[in-house]
Amino acid sequence: MSGRYPASVDVAIVGSGPTGAAYARILSETSPGATIAMFEVGPTVSDPPGAHVKNIADADDRARAQMRSEGPSAREGGERVGGIVKTAQRRARPGTYLLEDGFQVDGEDGLPVAAMSSNVGGMAAHWTGACPRPNDSERIGFLDDTGELDELLAEGERLLGVTSDAFDSSPHAPLVRGRLASAVDDGREEHERVQRMPLAVHRRDDGRLVWSGSDVVLGETTRANPDFALYDESLVTRVLLEDGRAAGVEVTDRRTGERHEVRARFVVVAADALRTPQLLWASGIRPDALGRYLNDQAQIVFAVRIRDFVPAAGDEGAATTGLSEYSGVTWVPFTDDMPFHGQVMQLDASPVTLADDDPAAPGSIVGLGLFCAKDLQASDRVEFSDAAHDGYGMPAMTLHYTLTSRDHEIIARAKDEVVRLGRAIGEPLDDRPFMMPLGASLHYQGTTRMGSVDDGTSVCSPDSEVWAAPGLFVAGNGVIPTATACNPTLTGVALAVKGARKISLLMSE
Ligand SMILES: Cc1cc2nc3c(=O)[nH]c(=O)nc-3n(C[C@H](O)[C@H](O)[C@H](O)COP(=O)(O)OP(=O)(O)OC[C@H]3O[C@@H](n4cnc5c(N)ncnc54)[C@H](O)[C@@H]3O)c2cc1C
Repeated sequence: MSGRYPASVDVAIVGSGPTGAAYARILSETSPGATIAMFEVGPTVSDPPGAHVKNIADADDRARAQMRSEGPSAREGGERVGGIVKTAQRRARPGTYLLEDGFQVDGEDGLPVAAMSSNVGGMAAHWTGACPRPNDSERIGFLDDTGELDELLAEGERLLGVTSDAFDSSPHAPLVRGRLASAVDDGREEHERVQRMPLAVHRRDDGRLVWSGSDVVLGETTRANPDFALYDESLVTRVLLEDGRAAGVEVTDRRTGERHEVRARFVVVAADALRTPQLLWASGIRPDALGRYLNDQAQIVFAVRIRDFVPAAGDEGAATTGLSEYSGVTWVPFTDDMPFHGQVMQLDASPVTLADDDPAAPGSIVGLGLFCAKDLQASDRVEFSDAAHDGYGMPAMTLHYTLTSRDHEIIARAKDEVVRLGRAIGEPLDDRPFMMPLGASLHYQGTTRMGSVDDGTSVCSPDSEVWAAPGLFVAGNGVIPTATACNPTLTGVALAVKGARKISLLMSE
């Protein structure tokens, strides 16, 4: 032992979000006896570890769990913004914290509200849980060619507990879907038509919704695995290399400040799309594509009051909680012809403020969100400093990020389209749609991207193994090589499944 850590394990996993958890789960299922240590810099804020904070019944306990997730200087109070507030200001969503500096360089657009979470479960203790499959150019061609992608996505859905029926009793959902379908579905294939949003949520027998976090991905299989251990408040500062191969991690126990080495045959870095490349950089692993092709989804929002709305029986309860399940969550899939991912959301998950004059009609106002895929550029990147440090003492980040003329065109189209869709549903609350500050989607991708060959434009192989460092695997949205408009976590988890299977295979050889 080294402090509270083992001296060596088979697999060290950095980060306890859903993609790190997917490695632990698949390895627990396929490699019994393999020793697995998961290191997480943040604290445990929910029970079971990694559970979504929305499942915490007490509002004060929930708020405390969110605040404890907000990074190295997590503290109570401060200016915070709820999930339903539309704002152009630089404020963080509960459970997340912003980059203090380096989020925008003069003359560039930057990602002013790029944010992270530091807690067991990562951002998925705070997320909305939308899990659509990618479509058309969002899909990863070289995994489609081998016929693997859909099987991996199905496995991701299993791990995340994705369902489509949790809101089937929502009285207004069919109305919203029907009106959107009449505006969108003509000429679309079945899987591209307006439909229920697949969500990582299920409804308990007593009617309560349970949102999936990393706890669901880990599952009982991992929790009951005697060879799996999760170490919270443990900052991995370096991946150890020996003869160019991954050989373990250097970890600082944030409770004692002591530094330890844990040897490992395989290392998985699943530390989000900004901090995974940061850790590789700090370890001296610096391939050309590291941190590059950074992409986020510009997000256009619009609020409408449902036309001819008739309140459903029981709506009063939703009025008092401020949480409406009455409109469900509707998905307008991305296509190359209409290159936006549409999400028409239940009110507590929508980024659109409710109208002040509407306290008696929960479910009557819905927020439409259109997410746009980025025009990929190698110059959009997260850069790391050898001299300056962030709040954890890791290399400080600077984000270089610029919208291209094509991005501006797509955003303009999305604004027209969201108004058209909004009018199909009802009466707009605002004159014009609103573009959220860049970074608001919290869907950063591309920084440790996967490629079919090592040609300098990718960091890892289709199995997520880093080209430059055998035995080192990367996980998370950073691995996704395409420009997606849809929510990326399902795809990130699907790619993690493939990587975990590869480690399992290598361990059995
Ligand atoms: C409010 C909100 C709504 C969202 N809604 C959706 C949605 O509907 N659909 C969707 O697909 N996505 C959504 N997302 C994004 C989603 O949560 C992320 O895509 C997902 O959590 C990424 O998983 P991950 O495992 O790659 O990283 P994360 O969940 O970010 O976990 C990474 C973990 O690594 C830890 N870590 C980082 N560096 C180190 C280090 N050096 N040592 C140890 N630990 C480290 C971090 O503390 C963190 O806990 C949302 C996010 C938020 C906050």
